[in-house]
Amino acid sequence: MERFKQVICGVKLPRTVQVGCFTISVCVVKNLGVDRALNGEYSHHHLEIRIGSECNAQQAWETYHHELMECINAVYTLNLTHEQISLAAVGLAQSMEAQYV
Ligand SMILES: [Zn+2]
Repeated sequence: MERFKQVICGVKLPRTVQVGCFTISVCVVKNLGVDRALNGEYSHHHLEIRIGSECNAQQAWETYHHELMECINAVYTLNLTHEQISLAAVGLAQSMEAQYV
């Protein structure tokens, strides 16, 4: 199980996550926060969740779940508002045991 995990910004996250029929890559990106004032982003075109390298562990954990919800919203065309995505992500992040290292 451990070999499927990677440490990103002080938190253990999967290298990939399956959402529907898509395998989504999870990766850390330098200067995401500096260049674009973001802690993370989801690219449906690249099927990639990106976490900014400047995040601390808690930010990375919360950002991962936020971008995962963005991904679920896109894959299943849920048409959730950004507020709904954010609230669902907070609930998701709280319900999972945080794996800070
Ligand atoms: Zn968002």
